[in-house]
Amino acid sequence: MQVLDRVELYLVKTPLPAPHAPSWIPGTIRTQVSMCIVRFITDDGVEGWSGFPAAGRERAGLGDLLAGLFLGQDASDIETLSERIQIMAAGGNFNWWLEPAFWDIKAKTAGLPLYKYLGGSDDRLPLYASAGELKEPQARRDEAEERLSEGFRTMKIRVHDFDEAVDIEHISDIATYMQGRMKISVDCNQAFRLTQNGDAPLWSLDRAKRFVDAAADVGLAWVEEPLFGEWHEEIARLTAHSRVPVAGGELHVMGYRELARMLKMGCYNIYQPDAMWAGGIAQSLQMARLCREQGLKFTPHCWSNGFGFIANAHVFAASGFAGEALFEYPVAPPGWTPEGRDMIFTQPFLHDNGWFNMPQTPGLGFEIDQANLKKYGRCFFKASRKETHWMPEALSDF
Ligand SMILES: [Mg+2]
Repeated sequence: MQVLDRVELYLVKTPLPAPHAPSWIPGTIRTQVSMCIVRFITDDGVEGWSGFPAAGRERAGLGDLLAGLFLGQDASDIETLSERIQIMAAGGNFNWWLEPAFWDIKAKTAGLPLYKYLGGSDDRLPLYASAGELKEPQARRDEAEERLSEGFRTMKIRVHDFDEAVDIEHISDIATYMQGRMKISVDCNQAFRLTQNGDAPLWSLDRAKRFVDAAADVGLAWVEEPLFGEWHEEIARLTAHSRVPVAGGELHVMGYRELARMLKMGCYNIYQPDAMWAGGIAQSLQMARLCREQGLKFTPHCWSNGFGFIANAHVFAASGFAGEALFEYPVAPPGWTPEGRDMIFTQPFLHDNGWFNMPQTPGLGFEIDQANLKKYGRCFFKASRKETHWMPEALSDF
């Protein structure tokens, strides 16, 4: 039996090429990709990696949980390992992002890229360009032209104004301008409120209804997260009302069981669980199967960092939905680019004329850039089955 023998945790901050202002966190300017990274190593030397956004040192104590829960466990038993992530969640620590590291080990051990190990055969994923910033109409038009010239045929824009007329003007302008050349969708980012650095609008069901009416009138491809994520009844009523598909479900940390209940209530037409938040790769694929049974669409959210992008790409490639849905490709130059986002890897995850070619190396399909890990990261926890090393001083000035 192959067992988890060692674990290491890193805090990593790689610089972005230019500042990035994510629309969903008003008042925030990002200048770096900040991540907590985990490396599990089995007794036969196979490594599993994953990484999750870090505000700072909030996961500094995670090692205490990881060593006790995971070391010595059968590395191939994802069910038991997931149960242990659930044990952490019961204690208030949602860490589904660890689970892809176990799949990384499993697929590497089998010598296959993960999506193939999971039974997938979609080697090329059709993409949509996922814009990340609010823009004035002319700048939005320029951005759409740029994405179109790069090969994208669908672009998702963002709205986040207090004045609903402004939001409706944004979607109307770009949809009309790009009509017949590019499909437009919109992310309202209403499912969760990130107001730590600035206030954000909170839509009512009535406002959301008026918005989806306007979106249908200008032919948008879908409307994403137009209501707060826990208002399941209201979301279901909105979707029943809407003439345009309503999408959502990316950050539901309760995972499959919550999303399956939402599906039964009729919440969304398109489900977008992100494996890093919403139950890991296994539960995301469970959700994909349920969407298939119910005649709904499935395409994971992936906007976090390169680990999130590729873990969810494997989910999508294994889900069988690549022939009928598009996978998210986060791109908001000059700040948020794959090259800037993926400095922790030896190769960034680039698109090819609006498509993504799945990596063919075993596992999740990346190699850590050890020089950049050393330059931009600090290892703050190391444990083996024999001993534990706390390095709190590693983070004292980081
Ligand atoms: Mg979204």
